[in-house]
Amino acid sequence: MRNILVIEDSPLVLKILDHLFRQEPDLQPLFCASLAEAEVMLEASAELFFAAIVDLHLPDAPNGESVDLVMRHRLPCIVLSGSYNEQRRDELLLKGVVDYVLKESQHSYEYAFRLLHRLESNSQVKILIAEDSDATRHYIRHVLTPHRFQLLDARDGDETLRILQEQPDIDLLVVDHSMPGLSGFELVKLLRQKLKRHELIIIGLSADAKGSLSAMFIKHGADDFLRKPFCPEELNCRVISTLERRDLMRALKQAAQYDALTGLNNRRAFYEQGLKQLQQAQRSNQPLSVAMLDLDFFKRINDEHGHASGDSALVVFARALAEAFPDALLGRLGGEEFALLGPLEDATLDRLRECCATLHYAAGAPPLSFSAGVYQGEPEDLETLLHQADLRLYQAKRQGRGLSIWRTAD
Ligand code: GH3
Ligand code: MG
Ligand code: MG
Ligand code: MG
Repeated sequence: MRNILVIEDSPLVLKILDHLFRQEPDLQPLFCASLAEAEVMLEASAELFFAAIVDLHLPDAPNGESVDLVMRHRLPCIVLSGSYNEQRRDELLLKGVVDYVLKESQHSYEYAFRLLHRLESNSQVKILIAEDSDATRHYIRHVLTPHRFQLLDARDGDETLRILQEQPDIDLLVVDHSMPGLSGFELVKLLRQKLKRHELIIIGLSADAKGSLSAMFIKHGADDFLRKPFCPEELNCRVISTLERRDLMRALKQAAQYDALTGLNNRRAFYEQGLKQLQQAQRSNQPLSVAMLDLDFFKRINDEHGHASGDSALVVFARALAEAFPDALLGRLGGEEFALLGPLEDATLDRLRECCATLHYAAGAPPLSFSAGVYQGEPEDLETLLHQADLRLYQAKRQGRGLSIWRTAD
């Protein structure tokens, strides 16, 4: 839970903010209607706040004194204002506020909340600023610092490559085109040969007036482009939107690969990765083991203890399976059916069976039990391997459940 200080006197704005905060269970607002009230609050407990949303015009602070107060307490400050004034905006951004939001529409308030959410994750985001001009590098640093990013500098192409190699967890590269040695454009081409968009975001920069350069950057894999000189908000907006796009892409990849309930590979991902392992085993002439596991009398758990208990059984079983076989490829193929590909020993399946009997997943529910069919042999194709394991699984079911049927290929 993050406490957010809101200094605002307008009942209408307070109503809107209150409504938006109600949809954010992780953000707890504390409202102050005047500078005097905010002063008392911050003197007593500034350390309790994560950030502040501050109205620029208050009856006892008509000239933005509330912003100075919040900045003195070193809190990230998002400014709300009813009117737009270029000079005032420049002054504020120079002071190091996070951003300046106009009280115009629902979208501006939503933007303030997007900023708050980003502030939470930005401390984990590493940005490399590759720029040979000291003045521009300092300017970018100055604009990005209030957002709490981890910032790194490079002065030419070679230094950029070296830092990226040393620190593969860098999320975003802001890269100038004209630098000594490798140009920004050459860097983009080089980097995109090995790093995909979800691995490194690239924003190109140039003072070049030609419109074609931005197109070239983007066509060769840059995510965005800024022409110098740019204003602070433009850089902020592009950094934020490329990060949001990257996060969305990662979330989609995650959702497409993993089963939402157990976190194991879903059927599609299991088949995709299984195929790769199979081809590797074929190249090195290694036998492969495949097992199909199915929980016994699972329907009864649902029927007698509720669907939530069934879900909980699936979760604890998947966890135990992953702990028992840390080096195998695992997947939930559907319902209460799981598959495993990789090194497999009878003793490990027995240990998993013993472990299952002791797992607690719902009050009063019976111990978990599973049946397994295992096939070990020369791999031909994945379907055949899984089918062979499946045949043995049904043999295990017919023989009474709670056991594994093995047979190596003749
Ligand atoms: P057997 O011992 O022969 O394997 O019988 P079983 O009851 O385990 O198998 P059956 O195929 O008859 O029933 C499986 C049940 O699993 C039916 C389905 O409603 C339930 N199920 C499938 N997916 C989920 C899920 O994600 N959560 C829960 N709680 N139940 C699920
Ligand atoms: Mg006001
Ligand atoms: Mg330059
Ligand atoms: Mg079953």
